[in-house]
Amino acid sequence: MDSQQITTLTGVLDKKMNRQLKQYLDICARCAICKDACHQYVATGDFTYLPARRAELIRQIYKKYFTKTGEFVPALYEARDPDENLLDELYESTYACTGCRRCMYYCPFSIDTAWILSVAKAILIAAGRGNEMLGQLADAAIFKSDNFDMFRDVIVSGFKDIEAELKELTGDPSAEIPVDKKGADILYVALAGAHSILPAAAIFHEAGTSWTLSMFESANYGFFFGDAEKARKIADRFMDEAVRLGVKEVVITECGHAYRVANIFHEAWTGKKHPFKVRHILEVIDEYIKDGRLKVSRCIDVPVSYHDPCQVGRNGGIFEQPRDIVRALATDFRDMTPNREQQWCCGGGGGIVAISEMDAFRLKSGKKKVEQIRATGAKIVASPCENCRLQMEGLNETEDLGVRIAAIMDLVIECMDLPGRKQAAEGA
Ligand code: SF4
Ligand code: SF4
Repeated sequence: MDSQQITTLTGVLDKKMNRQLKQYLDICARCAICKDACHQYVATGDFTYLPARRAELIRQIYKKYFTKTGEFVPALYEARDPDENLLDELYESTYACTGCRRCMYYCPFSIDTAWILSVAKAILIAAGRGNEMLGQLADAAIFKSDNFDMFRDVIVSGFKDIEAELKELTGDPSAEIPVDKKGADILYVALAGAHSILPAAAIFHEAGTSWTLSMFESANYGFFFGDAEKARKIADRFMDEAVRLGVKEVVITECGHAYRVANIFHEAWTGKKHPFKVRHILEVIDEYIKDGRLKVSRCIDVPVSYHDPCQVGRNGGIFEQPRDIVRALATDFRDMTPNREQQWCCGGGGGIVAISEMDAFRLKSGKKKVEQIRATGAKIVASPCENCRLQMEGLNETEDLGVRIAAIMDLVIECMDLPGRKQAAEGA
């Protein structure tokens, strides 16, 4: 690597440097408490995945270029150039990280390794070493918004098909999936596919909500890729839509990272305060059930457990609402141990489910989740994040867990008195 390339990469680190990052890079005591917190290290015993070791690679560049001791006696202070070997190690440890921040929770100094690794991703991208698949998915989302006229008709026609299913499910020929509705209370931002739209539409219909469906999906591969500019542009698509329509709140579907991007990062990236609230769909459903707007029965009589997605629970602060919803639907709720802030990551976050070469590693890293699920004896495991569900479905298959992995909205629909559901049950 020539000096110009090194200057480019250290320039990225310099641009990202602030007091907090400097503190994270200066204070690690190498106590290795974080090793027992990371599901990937615990499952593999491989030092590549030890949280402090991952951060150490950035720390080595920092020592060489940002400290006098590292600059003059690099061997003594473990200072290194960002050469190809270091970048190889950095790529493997960084794009494997799910960003669960369980290591931070247990670190005595609260060092945010996932944050340090977000800087690592920026360095890898500047070196042309960002993950290709995540980069392509991010670019495809941006292309869609830049050329929206090309896609509009096909998107609206897809919504009309789902609307036909909604009429059948609710037994109401006037039930609709509104789009572009100015002055609606809620802009609902789903994932791509009917599974994320139909149950929410039925819930909004039954609760009498004034809502409109976003033209854009909430998933944000720019965030997983590690490019804040791309991530902001992807989130801007529905944030600008919310401003244009004048809604009171943006409600994010059952997705972990999209909720965190919308609720926490987007204001920081734009430097502007949202003129609306941002909530997760489970906060809304919990409110509807508690204030009586949504009638559900306790119809599930097999044991149900709940997995806190890291970006909804530990990093998003939503713990009780999903549990209250599940308790309203099921007679036998069994929490995992540990749970809430201490919940084990399932292994499916950080965009890793989209990186096929990491499939075997990803499933291996779910060892703690498998143990937790088995210990509950549950027959259904509910979780409000598609990546978590994909990972747990994989674990269910490979480990023969014999459970059903379910979205919470699907369980809500099953416990609502909907004519279409009854007909389907009678016909079965
Ligand atoms: S727990 Fe914190 S201080 Fe200890 S090694 Fe890990 S990152 Fe460093
Ligand atoms: S954020 Fe999660 S996956 Fe990443 S190093 Fe920490 S514990 Fe491991």
